[in-house]
Amino acid sequence: MDPTREPTHTRCAIRSCGWCERSGVDCRFCSGTGWWRPERPHRDGNGVIVWLRVDEPCRGCAGTGKEHSPVAAV
Ligand SMILES: [Zn+2]
Ligand SMILES: [Zn+2]
Repeated sequence: MDPTREPTHTRCAIRSCGWCERSGVDCRFCSGTGWWRPERPHRDGNGVIVWLRVDEPCRGCAGTGKEHSPVAAV
């Protein structure tokens, strides 16, 4: 996790998004960074599968770092 990484967006694509209006609720997928780092399988030159870590804007929060998933809190 790169501590200098900032969320890519302050708001998501939804106008008047209720989740973006809220503050203090970090996205549970990216812990509020706006980025997630999945591992992708990659076949190298010898045909060996290796796992590469990639950085992508978090899909859970559209890169805002704010929780966007309406889940039951209990
Ligand atoms: Zn939003
Ligand atoms: Zn997120």
